[in-house]
Amino acid sequence: MSLIDKVKAAGVVGAGGAGFPTHVKLGAQVEWYIANGAECEPLMHKDRELMTHFAPEIVGGLLLAAESTRSRPAIGVKRKNKTAIAALKDAIKKSDVQLYYFDDYYPAGDEYEIVHTITGRLIPPQGLPLDVGCVVNNVETLYNIYNADRGLPVTETFMTITGCVQKPVTTWAPIGMRVIDVLDLAGGTTIDDFAIMESGLMMGKYVQNIDQPVTKTTGGLIVLPREHNLISRYTKTQKQMDRIGHSACDQCSYCTELCPRYLLGYDVQPHLVMRSLGFSRPGAELWNTYAQLCCQCGLCTLYACPEALYPREACVKSMHDLRAIGRGKWEGAREVRPHPTKAFRRVPVKQLMTRLGVHRYEAEAAYVQMKVQPAVVRIPLKQHIGAAAEPVVKKGETVHKGQLLAQIPPGQLGATIHASMTGRVSAIENDMIIIEA
Ligand code: SF4
Ligand code: SF4
Repeated sequence: MSLIDKVKAAGVVGAGGAGFPTHVKLGAQVEWYIANGAECEPLMHKDRELMTHFAPEIVGGLLLAAESTRSRPAIGVKRKNKTAIAALKDAIKKSDVQLYYFDDYYPAGDEYEIVHTITGRLIPPQGLPLDVGCVVNNVETLYNIYNADRGLPVTETFMTITGCVQKPVTTWAPIGMRVIDVLDLAGGTTIDDFAIMESGLMMGKYVQNIDQPVTKTTGGLIVLPREHNLISRYTKTQKQMDRIGHSACDQCSYCTELCPRYLLGYDVQPHLVMRSLGFSRPGAELWNTYAQLCCQCGLCTLYACPEALYPREACVKSMHDLRAIGRGKWEGAREVRPHPTKAFRRVPVKQLMTRLGVHRYEAEAAYVQMKVQPAVVRIPLKQHIGAAAEPVVKKGETVHKGQLLAQIPPGQLGATIHASMTGRVSAIENDMIIIEA
């Protein structure tokens, strides 16, 4: 079996983002295979902990992937993560893997940024790393590639559980475990009236339902007081955000001046997108095209704007609306040239945490190995980009941890799904397979 087939069979998807099926990336012929360990979401430490405790596996996965794609292996890591660097240095001995060091700024882990820093190449507008001969994988994805080569499917996700919890921790959680149960791995919450952000404060999601399952792409849970300013910002409706933007944006353009994609040389100008909110009649055709190269990093909304407006959300809506009327393709300048002041306008993560009002929640959240045995898991059939997987098990069937539950539909992009614990399939409903212990 080739590495691509093993990775496909194991259901490996991008662990650090939207969950792109990894076997597809492994089919490319590129010059660089880059491990992304430049974690930059405030309060999140899962990549640091994974590199510290599982460096041989990550490097093993990277070497397999680099061999499969005939490319140069490289790892991007933050200079501040000394324990991770020491473990990686040990693991790359006698290999040709190169380490590249990043300062502690946001968003150092953006793939356009990481490709540029490591290779000097600039991905074309709306392009992929592949367009400049690179593949970028999160370090957890490489850990999963290593396991896939040994016949082990993806059944757990590595995550930091932090914020208002008794003992902030980083650990493995079975896929499909309820968010509220995962919080118990950190000793439970320290407050009664809390809200949860999944996978980060900047690019993560507000958790609407504490019974929802964690998936292959869940990188962490951050518990905050419900009255925290960030939570009130994440729970505004689009209409509220538009109305505030319409009345309060003074066109100062700070959002653009600090936009990482703008500074990297792409024509993203959120202040001009905000102007569209000023038109009295809404409609997709009234959006300009200055949001189309936005990566939704959130710096404009959560850091740059002195009025606490929502330029990121305006950009997201603009991109969505323009795509819906067939105008989503970038037709502007193809040339990309970094802004001369780029290096001086980086946003240090510490400064970002102060702006977000989360400095006091910063915690070590070191890795602890745990034996986690949930009573029930609800495993979504779609945890990835592409088509939902099709069940190959039936209600009432006994399944074992690691057993195939759902297959990729023939001829489609997707990922396989496996049982994260041994038990009985009690239901297959709402695009989930439910297993009871
Ligand atoms: S930073 Fe805020 S106020 Fe200034 S242009 Fe951008 S959205 Fe408007
Ligand atoms: S979210 Fe804002 S800061 Fe980030 S890329 Fe988009 S426009 Fe730029």
